[in-house]
Amino acid sequence: MSINWFPGHMVKARREIEENIKLVDIVVMLLDARAPYSCRNPELEKLVARKKVVLVLNKMDLAEKNAMRRHMTALRTEGFMVAAMDSISGKGQREVMQVISESYQSFADTMLQKGRRVRPARVMVVGVPNIGKSTFLNSLVGKKMAATGAKPGVTRGKQWLRVREDIEFMDTPGLMWPKVGSEEQGYKLAMLDIVGEKAYSEYDVARFLVTWLKDNQPSVLLDKFKLKDDNLPPELIMENIARHRGYLVKGGAADIEKTCKLLLQDFRKGKLGPANLD
Ligand code: GDP
Repeated sequence: MSINWFPGHMVKARREIEENIKLVDIVVMLLDARAPYSCRNPELEKLVARKKVVLVLNKMDLAEKNAMRRHMTALRTEGFMVAAMDSISGKGQREVMQVISESYQSFADTMLQKGRRVRPARVMVVGVPNIGKSTFLNSLVGKKMAATGAKPGVTRGKQWLRVREDIEFMDTPGLMWPKVGSEEQGYKLAMLDIVGEKAYSEYDVARFLVTWLKDNQPSVLLDKFKLKDDNLPPELIMENIARHRGYLVKGGAADIEKTCKLLLQDFRKGKLGPANLD
């Protein structure tokens, strides 16, 4: 999915989030475990600031674990509740539920003190395109995907997915527009497939990826692509990769277009090893 974030789209996304947020106690904000800071959007954080916010670093299976733990610690010191998850395998799910429960505890205590029955926590998922919102919800809900049914007077047609006795999720996640504050952040978001191809050329993104590998994980270039010298300009590295992989056009020239496409695909699927971009 690639979205062009015209102002109209942003206004609509913002309005939807503003409306839906009124119906929940907790907002689960999905971030990419490989680049949690680059996925943040201060404008969105302001919109949800009055709710309890749980940050879930999704796609943890693709992230470099030590860096991810450091990011989690830093985000906790900012005051967020934080957990990590692999929505494909479901790993981390128990911790996510635990953190949601904990963040609801003060509401539950207040309700009890007032002599009220404690109702299940209502949770909404928000995140930028392709961050894994649908996969995350599916993983939590699993076979229980059948909705608990709209509650008259409260939900205005919203469906609630009861994932546990005490936790239910709004079935429609909030789509958040990516915030691109710098060229570097834009490239990172493009590498993660969060901003679409229309915004950046595949060549430029692949070039950024090669430069990033050269600076941060030269072993990938040396081992996986059998590059003899990683101290080359990115254009030449791409050419070497093309030749190593046999991506050639008629006449024997390197097929750079194909090389860029496959390099990005490999990175996004984790085939170049665990990553940390932030
Ligand atoms: P949405 O646009 O936010 O709803 O994102 P999707 O749920 O459609 O996921 C986007 C892509 O990321 C899909 O190809 C998913 O299979 C993949 N994905 C989602 N969560 C994870 C995860 O935890 N790990 C990995 N490796 N891939 C994931």
